[in-house]
Amino acid sequence: MQMVDWRSRLIHPTGRAPEGFRSLATPTFRGSTTILRSAADVADHWDASQAPYRYGFYGTPTTLELAARIAELEGGAHCFITPGGQAAIALVYLSFVDAGGHVLVPDSVYGPSRDLATRLLSRMDIDAEYYDPAIGSGIEALCRDHTQLIWCESPGSVTMEIQDIPAITQVARERRIVSALDNTYSAGVLFDAFSHGIDVTMQALTKYIGGHSDLLLGSVTVRDRELYLRIGDVHQLLGMSASPDDCSLALRGLQTLAVRLDQLEKSTVEIARFLSAQPEIEQVMHPALPSSPGHQLWKRDFKGSASVFSVLFRENVSRESIIRFIDRLKLFKLGFSWGGVTSLVMRYEELSRVPPVPATRIVRFNVGLEATADLIADLASAWEAFR
Ligand SMILES: *Cc1c(COP(=O)(O)O)cnc(C)c1O
Repeated sequence: MQMVDWRSRLIHPTGRAPEGFRSLATPTFRGSTTILRSAADVADHWDASQAPYRYGFYGTPTTLELAARIAELEGGAHCFITPGGQAAIALVYLSFVDAGGHVLVPDSVYGPSRDLATRLLSRMDIDAEYYDPAIGSGIEALCRDHTQLIWCESPGSVTMEIQDIPAITQVARERRIVSALDNTYSAGVLFDAFSHGIDVTMQALTKYIGGHSDLLLGSVTVRDRELYLRIGDVHQLLGMSASPDDCSLALRGLQTLAVRLDQLEKSTVEIARFLSAQPEIEQVMHPALPSSPGHQLWKRDFKGSASVFSVLFRENVSRESIIRFIDRLKLFKLGFSWGGVTSLVMRYEELSRVPPVPATRIVRFNVGLEATADLIADLASAWEAFR
């Protein structure tokens, strides 16, 4: 058919760039529709391992490349990319827990994850029970006949408790309960979740995989095909597609993950040690320091530590002087999230923990890629707030 009108040629061009450019970078494939070969070939299914590219929603080559690389790094069978870490948490819950079900969640879990359980899952009559992150094999006593999921997060958010994952997953396996781990801190590499018995991991790729505070993405990785099939259906039904542009940035982030983590670990340990020497500090919660809860488990199970940690100020340090201290910091910026190249600081009015923790005396730091000496000088100068 001959096209005469330039309007049609805009949509069906004949001019094309030559093929054969072999970039080192994964191309960014944008697309909702992907063209099917024949009318006989029409089928609408999410499972890219059977027949990829039915619809952009189930994954473009860019998103599926990112998923494949995360699965490979974590040693899982398959991975799903989600619009953010919080979405990944929701995907795990909604894939494995039914109305009337019971889930066990560590008291130290990421705050919005707890909110999801208490404010949304409760509306579906799902009972979330919080447990002491140091519980270990004692989790057995909390398991009930209708327990469907044991959630873990190690280290815990803000208070940084390391969990005895092998002890917990042994109970989960015996009771045939799915175990899930928020593996964001370890970027999927500092802790090998699957070899320690975990069934499902999720990460906020927003943090170390993105690595530059310029995207929001999450991932859910599974041990085997059965778990893959259970999640895939829910991933599709919830509409959890991710932007190929963000995935492209995450693929770039992956290439420098090793050098960033190595440098961040060194700098963070040095800064944590500097802070632990200050008389105003009661405790430094950094898994590589013996003062931190679960330090021995960290030594046993982890390959390294990352850039986020917290300090507890002594009781005689006022809330006001802590606020003054934070406002005086120049290089540490005040903001949520972590894992990027910029040092950050955060304080809290309230943290849900049993027994309760004095939240206003806790300050969390995220160390970035600035020179360590400059960061320590920044802290030392803001320390005037206490003197
Ligand atoms: C940031 C974070 C999330 C959520 O990630 P978003 O991409 O911001 O939704 C989940 N878990 C942990 C431990 C986090 O720190």
